[in-house]
Amino acid sequence: MPDVFADLVGQDETVEALRRAAADAATILRAGPPDLTAPDGAAPTSDGALAQIGSTRPGEHEPGAGMTHAWIFTGPPGSGRSVAARAFAAALQCLHGTGCGSCPGCHTTMAGTHADVRLVVPEGLSIGVNEMRALVLRAASTPSGGRWQVVVIEDADRLTEAAGNALLKAVEEPPPRTVFLLCAPSTHPDDISVTIRSRCRVVPLRQPAPAAVAEVLARRDGVEPDVARWAAAAAQGHVGRARRLARDPEARARRDAVLAVPRQLTGVGAAIDAAAALIGAAEAEAAASVADTDAAERAALETALGAGGTGRGAAGAFRGAAGQVKELERRQKSRATRAQRDALDRALVDLAGFYRDALTMALHAPVEPVNTDTSTVAGAGARKWEADGALRRLEAVLACRTAIEANVKPRIAVEAMMLALWKG
Ligand SMILES: [Zn+2]
Repeated sequence: MPDVFADLVGQDETVEALRRAAADAATILRAGPPDLTAPDGAAPTSDGALAQIGSTRPGEHEPGAGMTHAWIFTGPPGSGRSVAARAFAAALQCLHGTGCGSCPGCHTTMAGTHADVRLVVPEGLSIGVNEMRALVLRAASTPSGGRWQVVVIEDADRLTEAAGNALLKAVEEPPPRTVFLLCAPSTHPDDISVTIRSRCRVVPLRQPAPAAVAEVLARRDGVEPDVARWAAAAAQGHVGRARRLARDPEARARRDAVLAVPRQLTGVGAAIDAAAALIGAAEAEAAASVADTDAAERAALETALGAGGTGRGAAGAFRGAAGQVKELERRQKSRATRAQRDALDRALVDLAGFYRDALTMALHAPVEPVNTDTSTVAGAGARKWEADGALRRLEAVLACRTAIEANVKPRIAVEAMMLALWKG
């Protein structure tokens, strides 16, 4: 079995830092249990190792050196935040080194069955306070394997405020053997509260280079090297997206449809039609992606509520049930909205790649195109629009993304973009 960090693509420096931290963590374990007689759970300072784990102030040690109780993995979508967090969890539980990949500690962590590693993957749109309280409580218990209690929270940007406060308490006064690994897009206050961030060490992941993504697709997923190189470039550093493009014909067809847009913009009517088609495709993709989960949740809730029950108490139960059904519908609707926005954003990123190619060609810049399969069309655009026109179109796509993030109705933002792309 390969090393636990093998799937973390193009992040060599980060992997080195995490290995050093795991090695330091192992040193702390060898130093023995914390001295509980010390005031406020503070560690004895005789060898310094335990004092180190007790410290949660970032900047106190060299970046990457030493071990701490709370970490935030940040990076653009697809850069491997959760892959990194899981691999680090395995490295902390590794019995032979810093993530050998073959010992029981590594193996069970990567398989998701380690007794002392809890993985939180929010299904709905947010992680609630009850879930977080239960988690914090369990995380405070003594690790059964004698090493660390590790809690991995994917999408920590989706904590509710109350859940964030429950987590903050645990991060502020961490049990001696508990480690929190959070994943978030960035350390912006919109993603993670300033107080939690101030208690964590940040592990920034970069967007991996296409060559590194292509290598992992070929090695791990058995994708043909040519296809892997094309998909890695087209996905612009998003590892999961590259894998889908390489393996899923529907994902490829959706991308082809998006990249056909620039050729279709022949007038106002065509621009409005193109906008409607793009929105419709995003809605269809999103609906397909959430349909199975929605149906399964609904069925589970109906079973739990004993649908069709009668007799004493049934009326009261029904009133409570109506509230739960409403709550589920609300969560499903917000998940569908999020899925639509994500699908539309993927389309806009593809489109931005096309105009970026046209711009670099107009400038005769010595860089590889994002989309090798549409470079002829992009080249024709470059000659017709020249650099200025290509740049204006690229900016129109980026402005559309920004507008949608700022809650402008997607249809209006996309129509404005299509008209700008047509007019240049
Ligand atoms: Zn191991």
